Amino acid sequence: MSEKIFEIFEKKIEELKEKLLYRSIRDAEALENMKITINGKVYINFASNDYLGLSKHPLVIEAAKNALELFGVGSCASRLLSGGTILHRKVEELLCEFKDVEASLILNSGYTANISLIPALADEGDIILSDELNHASIIDGCRLSKAKKFIYKHGDTEEIEKILKKISCKGKKLIVTDTVFSMDGDIAPLYELYELCKNYEALLYIDDAHGTGVLGDGYGALKHFGLKPDSFVIQMGTFSKAVGAFGAFVGGSKTLINWFVNTARALIFSTALPTSVIAAAYVSLKIIRENKNLTKKLWENTEKVRETIRKLELQTTKSQTPIVPILFESIQKTQKASEILSSFGIYAPVIRPPTVKIPRIRLSISAAHKNEEIERLSEALIHLSQQLHQV
Ligand SMILES: *Cc1c(COP(=O)(O)O)cnc(C)c1O
Repeated sequence: MSEKIFEIFEKKIEELKEKLLYRSIRDAEALENMKITINGKVYINFASNDYLGLSKHPLVIEAAKNALELFGVGSCASRLLSGGTILHRKVEELLCEFKDVEASLILNSGYTANISLIPALADEGDIILSDELNHASIIDGCRLSKAKKFIYKHGDTEEIEKILKKISCKGKKLIVTDTVFSMDGDIAPLYELYELCKNYEALLYIDDAHGTGVLGDGYGALKHFGLKPDSFVIQMGTFSKAVGAFGAFVGGSKTLINWFVNTARALIFSTALPTSVIAAAYVSLKIIRENKNLTKKLWENTEKVRETIRKLELQTTKSQTPIVPILFESIQKTQKASEILSSFGIYAPVIRPPTVKIPRIRLSISAAHKNEEIERLSEALIHLSQQLHQV
């Protein structure tokens, strides 16, 4: 009996391999600045979301070390019991200032934030409108909610308005969107979404995982658009990308944050983040606020890479951020391209379906990339483009 069950899984795994959809984990032996060592080979890492290099910042590391000494390794209880410390509260206070909100709450990861906050906001009798390219954690959050769901075409605010006009909903209406779409690097039409929510009395939930620390002088997507966070806006973000630490947060009105404390299952039923991680996030946020050279360097590096992609006429998306995808016709070609880059010491793995429709190499640019590392990438891309034309 049990052997038969395993045969089913084995067969499915074989199918994945045949379709080149099989994934495997590659762990690093060392990480030093933007260098990554895998199987004894050192590469320049273009697959990290450490946009500002803060995960290696000496002050951030020192803060984590100090908190480790003071509070220990694990927090050993949920926030509602004894898992939180004064530093958790200090980060939430800083976030209020950072995101210009009344209240905020730390959650354990972006994934668990989305799968618990979305169902807490919209339930039976409510409706959720969600962009077709939203992050998997948003999709899963929508699935966990009993609300009626409408998936709109990517960034299509006309379709949203049509839906809002057509449906009669006595309950709440919620529009959910990534601010920066994680696989294409483009930015959601937040201005229009904001206006729509205002006009149709809907809530706007934005996932600023790739916007925080990157857009709007580091403050995030709302600042980028010059939008004031009104009480109908719920801002979710993470410490796992530009902040260089780990964890997530949500900011909004006091009422909603109190509601989340009482209903977000990932907060209630999960152990709080260790204070060392929180201390790191605290110092990182302060650095983002005070050191504008980091974001400046990030955009300079990004512009250089985009310029190379443009010159070489490589296929890309409408990215407006440091996420720079290169698109290919097949997984095979993408794999070949990744190997070519790898032979130049560039680490840029393949992103394949079902994560994306069109297979790609997704370059993540960081302020911590040195000029010579960006130049090395350009050389590799020139070589890649020549090889592509020969095929
Ligand atoms: C990375 C990401 C998440 C998940 O965040 P984690 O902290 O890594 O769990 C959620 N939403 C978006 C848009 C992301 O890019």
